[in-house]
Amino acid sequence: MSTNITPSNSGFVSLVGAGPGDPDLLTVKGLRVIRAADVLVYDRLVSKDILAMADPAAEMIYVGKKLDFHCVPQDQINQILVQKAQQGKRVVRLKGGDSFIFGRGGEELEELAKFGIKYEVVPGITAAAGATAYAGIPLTHRDHAQSVQFITGHVQKDGREIEWGSLAQSNNTLVFYMGLKQSGHICDKLITHGLAADTPCAIIENGTRPEQRVLSGTLATLPELAKGAVSPALIVVGSVASLSEHLQWFNQ
Ligand code: SAH
Repeated sequence: MSTNITPSNSGFVSLVGAGPGDPDLLTVKGLRVIRAADVLVYDRLVSKDILAMADPAAEMIYVGKKLDFHCVPQDQINQILVQKAQQGKRVVRLKGGDSFIFGRGGEELEELAKFGIKYEVVPGITAAAGATAYAGIPLTHRDHAQSVQFITGHVQKDGREIEWGSLAQSNNTLVFYMGLKQSGHICDKLITHGLAADTPCAIIENGTRPEQRVLSGTLATLPELAKGAVSPALIVVGSVASLSEHLQWFNQ
């Protein structure tokens, strides 16, 4: 079949957020489109139980990435989505959490739009919402935090630094994705920019999964805490992190 660039009328791509791990956190709409899909293009963090909800006859394409090891480069993933849609297939692009939160969903849509391919976006529960809910950490709380920020711990390709000054506020909750390897840097920068060394911190590993663990400490002890943690994990910095001790309900 020709892979020439022509606008597609029949194929369709649903960009679906699968949630952070617990398969029950998939949306009803997500389930409906997964069941109807001809092709599923999925990432490493998508739970096996969710993949099992697909039609057994559906084509399953794994394009998962690990840090420092890209299974399938992004431009090749884009190409797969475009080609399958151009073949008239109902394609589900399934990602962990939410596709628009550190999920490159925007880049994939830009590519589909370029080729005139129709698409929809089905939001998912992002790790920051799911993992903290299961860990008993309310992201905002009238007595603790009036704002929350999601930050990537990944160093930017162009070397651009995060604006640490704007993050280091005592009434702000910070949630770092992909931050385990950068925990020393995160700790140094936040303390240098004025956040107290005894600010509560939590690392939530495998959030919402049966093996979820919550490691609690302070900003000063964060690098030490991170040494004992495994991926996928979130780092939560802020007064709300201390509430986990009383409010944790999952895996108790
Ligand atoms: N799009 C995803 C994030 C992808 S980036 C979302 O919205 O959740 C991958 C990072 O997400 C991981 O390095 C980790 O920091 C975080 N993450 C994903 N699933 C997680 C889980 N179950 N528990 C803790 N952190 C998780």
